[in-house]
Amino acid sequence: MTMLYNRVALVGLGLIAGSMALAMRRGGLAGEIVGTARSAETRAIAVDIGLCDRVVDSVAEAVQGADLIVLAVPVGAMGEVAEQMAPHLKPGATVTDVGSVKRAVIDAVAPHIPDGVQFVPGHPLAGTEHSGPRSGFAELFENRWCLLVPVPGSDPAAVDRLRRLWEAMGAHVDEMDADHHDLVLAVTSHAPHLIAYTMVGVADDLRRVTDSEVVKYSAAGFRDFTRIAASDPIMWRDVFLNNKDATLEILGRFTEELFALQRAIRTGDGALLQAYFTRTRAIRRGIIEAGQDTEAPDFGRAKRPG
Ligand code: NAP
Repeated sequence: MTMLYNRVALVGLGLIAGSMALAMRRGGLAGEIVGTARSAETRAIAVDIGLCDRVVDSVAEAVQGADLIVLAVPVGAMGEVAEQMAPHLKPGATVTDVGSVKRAVIDAVAPHIPDGVQFVPGHPLAGTEHSGPRSGFAELFENRWCLLVPVPGSDPAAVDRLRRLWEAMGAHVDEMDADHHDLVLAVTSHAPHLIAYTMVGVADDLRRVTDSEVVKYSAAGFRDFTRIAASDPIMWRDVFLNNKDATLEILGRFTEELFALQRAIRTGDGALLQAYFTRTRAIRRGIIEAGQDTEAPDFGRAKRPG
C-alpha cells in the first residue's frame, strides 16, 4: 500500500473518523494521524484505545501542518469547526468532510476555505447505529460507496488523491453534484430513517397498551426498524434540518403512496397490493445482486467485527 498523505487531521472522533483512522492505519495510508474532538472525555478515550498517533485539544492545533483535514462532526457543527480551522490551514492542503448532507455543508464550509486550499466534500455511505470513539472499525467502508462532491474550482489532482484514499480503505467511489446527492440520499437514507423513527414511536405508544408484547414479538419485522431508529439523535436531527427540501419532497410522495395502499386495503384491492409488493421485492433482489446486502436472515448485520 502507498502512503497518500503525510499528515491527516481528523476533526471529530466518532464512528466515521474512528473507522477512517483504523482503515488508514491498516493500509499505511497516512504518515501521521492527528485527531481532536470537542469533549475531553472523547479525547481521553481516543488516547486510551490508541485511535490516532496524536490527540490534541483544539481544532487549530489538529489541522496545523496537515495535508488532509477530515471534518467528521454532525452536519450542523461543520460551519463552526471550519471557522476554527481556517486560519491554521497549510497552503496546498485538502479539506474534506463526511457529512450526510452535501449542499448545506458546502454552504457552511466553503466560505471558510482560504485560497490555495482545496475543498473536496465527501460522504461515505456506510454506518451503523453506533456512535462515539469506540464504535469505529477498519472494515466499515469495505464494498460500500463513497460519494465525492467536488465544488467549482476543486483541483482534479486533489479529488483524485482523495478518491485513492477511499478506494484504499475499501470503498467504491463515485462523483456527484450536491443537489443530486441530497435527493438520492433523501430516498435511500433520510426518509427511511424518519419512517423508522415514526414506526418505532407508534409501537412505543402502543406498547403502553399491550405491555411487553411489542418487544417480545419484535422479530416479526419491527426489530429491523428499531436498529435504524437507534441511530444517533444529534446526527439525525441535523440531517433533517439540513436536507429539508429533498426530504419533504420524498415524504410527500411517501404519504401519497401510503394513502393509495391504505385505500387498497380498505377496498379489498388485492391485485394492487400484490402488484405493489411484487415490484418492491424485485428492488430487494437488485440490492443483493449489487452486493450491497446479503440474504442472511439477520441481513448480514451480525458480522460486524468485534
Ligand atoms: P459520532 O460517532 O456521533 O461522532 C461525532 C463526533 O463529532 C464526536 O467526536 C463529537 O465530539 C464531535 N462533535 C459533536 N458535536 C460537535 C460540535 N458541536 N462541535 C465539535 N465537535 C462536535 O458521529 P459519526 O457517526 O462519526 O458522524 C460524523 C459525521 O459523519 C456526521 O456528519 C454524519 O452525518 C456523517 N455520517 C455518519 C454516518 C453514520 O451512519 N453514523 C454515515 C455516513 C456519514 P464529542 O464526542 O466530544 O461530543
